[in-house]
Formats: sequence, C-alpha cells, structure tokens
Amino acid sequence: MEKGPRNWYHYYELMKNNAPLTIYYPICGGGEECISVCPYAHEIWEVGPMIAPMFGGKPRVRLRPFMAHPEKCRRCYLCVQACPTGALHRSDQEIRHPIFTLIKNSVKLFFKKRYGIRWVFRREHREKFRKNNPK
Ligand code: SF4
Repeated sequence: MEKGPRNWYHYYELMKNNAPLTIYYPICGGGEECISVCPYAHEIWEVGPMIAPMFGGKPRVRLRPFMAHPEKCRRCYLCVQACPTGALHRSDQEIRHPIFTLIKNSVKLFFKKRYGIRWVFRREHREKFRKNNPK
C-alpha cells in the first residue's frame, strides 16, 4: 500500500482492475474477517490507512484490508463467505445497492452456519475493529 492516506475509491479501483476481488469500503467494518480466514493471508493481504466512511458515517482515516499481491490468490472465496457485510465481492460483479447489500448480509449473519454472528463478534475481530477504526 502506498504511503499517505488516499481516498478509498483509489484502492477499490486498484483491486477492481488488478485482483479477482474488490472491497466496497463504505460498507466494510474493518474487522479483518476476510484476512483471518484466508489460508495465504500473509502472502496476499495488507492493512493500511485510507480515507473512508463507514456505514453512512463521515469519511475519515481508517485502516482497511487491501490485496497487495492479488496474483497469489487461489480463488477459494473463503474470504467472501466470511465477509459479514458483503463489502468484499468478485471484481467482475458490481455492488449496485450498497445499503441493501449491507442490510441483507447483516440479517444473513443470524442464519449462517459458518461465519455467523457469534464468529463475527469474536474477541479477535472486535479488537481488529477497534484498531482499524481509531477515534
Ligand atoms: S479467495 Fe481465497 S486465497 Fe484469495 S484472498 Fe480470498 S481466501 Fe485468500
């Protein structure tokens, strides 16, 4: 990730053009659930600062995941299954209604067998959330 916080859209577009997956950052909570399930996380992902809103809040500097080495991705899509908000999705698919996507995925958390509500609220994800959304 480049030095200095840039707008989220820069990283969204970079992944959209160069990676199999991209993140629609305004509905990413920054709990790093995607990274925690990726078997090759240390080869692929970085977490860095960018200016982004969260769930309709004001844009500010937050730490967010970014695929620094997308060529190492094995396309297993575990990370997409684990994303609690629907922010992480295939780069060849658009998120047309982000708020609807967020609501739909939040409701789904109560019914998911894997990566459901209890998993998302595990201590490690709560700690990542706090670290990545500094006050
Ligand atoms: S698709 Fe699989 S290998 Fe690629 S980033 Fe997601 S979890 Fe990792």
